[in-house]
Amino acid sequence: MKIERPPRKFVAPDLEIKGWEDIRGYFENLLNREGESLEDFKTWLKDRSELDAVLEEEQAWRYIRMSIDTQNEELRTAYNDFVSKIQPEIAPLDHALNVKMLENPWLETLKEEESYALYFRALEVQKSLFRDENVSLEAELSEQAQQYGALSGAQTIEHEGKNLTMQQAAQFLKNQDASLREEVFTKMAARRREDVVALNDLYSDLIKKRHQLAINAGFENFRDYKFQALGRFDYTKQDCFAFHDAIKTLVVPIVKEIQQNRLSKLGKDKFKPWDTEVDPEGKAPLQPFQSGAEMLDGTIEMLSTLDPYFGDCLQTMKEMGHLDLESKNGKAPGGYNYPLYETGVPFIFMNAVGAQRDLETMVHEAGHAIHSFLSRDLELTGFKNVPSEVAELASMSMELISMTEWGKFYKDAETLKRAIKEQLEGVLKVLPWIAQIDAFQHWIYENPSHSVEERYEKWRSLSADFGTGLVDWTGFEDQVATSWQRQLHLFEVPFYYIEYGIAQLGALGVWMNAKQNHDKAINDYKAALKLGYTRSIPDIYATAGVKFDFSASHLRSLIDFVKLELDLLNS
Ligand SMILES: [Zn+2]
Repeated sequence: MKIERPPRKFVAPDLEIKGWEDIRGYFENLLNREGESLEDFKTWLKDRSELDAVLEEEQAWRYIRMSIDTQNEELRTAYNDFVSKIQPEIAPLDHALNVKMLENPWLETLKEEESYALYFRALEVQKSLFRDENVSLEAELSEQAQQYGALSGAQTIEHEGKNLTMQQAAQFLKNQDASLREEVFTKMAARRREDVVALNDLYSDLIKKRHQLAINAGFENFRDYKFQALGRFDYTKQDCFAFHDAIKTLVVPIVKEIQQNRLSKLGKDKFKPWDTEVDPEGKAPLQPFQSGAEMLDGTIEMLSTLDPYFGDCLQTMKEMGHLDLESKNGKAPGGYNYPLYETGVPFIFMNAVGAQRDLETMVHEAGHAIHSFLSRDLELTGFKNVPSEVAELASMSMELISMTEWGKFYKDAETLKRAIKEQLEGVLKVLPWIAQIDAFQHWIYENPSHSVEERYEKWRSLSADFGTGLVDWTGFEDQVATSWQRQLHLFEVPFYYIEYGIAQLGALGVWMNAKQNHDKAINDYKAALKLGYTRSIPDIYATAGVKFDFSASHLRSLIDFVKLELDLLNS
């Protein structure tokens, strides 16, 4: 695929954004432009959309460069300048543009098209949430949230003369040598302890400011505000609570059973904290690849077999240098696919160390990337900006449907089986964690003035609800109370988490379909992704051939299916 940035019609092709003055004119042009006809309105919308794409892409590149090198002062300043100097200038004018747009006499005509109706609905919400006094608060929040990446990116341990990132160190927890595992775990815990206070302070401050933001906008708490801001039109907080309960009742016991099996194979009653990741049959950890390059080439090959278009997407990213895959000192933790709305070719960032977990992340992010490609030709930037329930359906489905091709990385049939088993067990194990993180956030923002001790207490009690209770934490009790500090979302993208659970159920459905009819499932998946956000979430799920449903009964039917597949793998 040869992809070039589409020609600009409104913004200067060689625009260089150094500061607000470089872009102010575009906002003023849009704000002051007179137009009578429907065509004029459409042109105005397209010009605004182009400006949106240019600015989003500018911010994206600044974020990407910073997260690759969090200790680089210059890159950090470049990102922080964007969120703390440029963004606050944009916000009121964006609001003014929303007001102007929503008053346009042609609005109702365009609303007859579902894509526009959804777009206007999203901006209607933005407009209703806008408060002048929140502009500077939002800027402070965006800047402050980045401290999380800087703090956790700087967490390393020294082992056998080498400086290891936490991701690299975690690989040792799969080593068969128990004393080595204990040593590395103890070092990791000690290093994390150094930042416990800083992360608590950071979180407390973020909570305080987020609560104020919500109060300013007329809400009782940040949760209720955020449900609106995230555009959660298709479910309520009660649905989330019911989902937590269903996971507790239906999934936690199965995870407990899996862990009990591992324990009995290990000949133990309880795990030590450094035992939970080790293979109970004495096998070395799965190692699908050695280098990031090997992972990428294998993934391209694998995706091409699944569907030639999928492989093409990754190949294009490779040629354009839109990938940074290996774990390095100073990189922010985690992995992401950042859509670049103007070029239409996204960027994948990861911390690969050669583990099965990395292969999982690679195909996950590839799913997001393919979504970007499939929706790049949609008319407006707003149509490409999909809600997370949809975004994660693309990525999580890819994790599961790619399993038929994992033989590219695992030549031996038994090892392949083991990798698939780990993946399916992972699907089950992550659901309680999703529920726990989500339940925690509800409590956090319902009780914004809680103390750090109360925060620990709540997290401990949730850990009792959603954990297996099979780990002996003696001597490491503090690690239980603070394990939430490892979850980036709490700091950087609050309330973005339950979507993984919702989408996981959708993805299981897509995978079930693919097992019955591969071609049809892939075609439905592509058709759904192509829609971007031009249909409602339930309609997009239906196009993908699945239900948008996270009720207990639907959860039960999907979990039963996973159990059945796991039993087959175990037999
Ligand atoms: Zn994702």
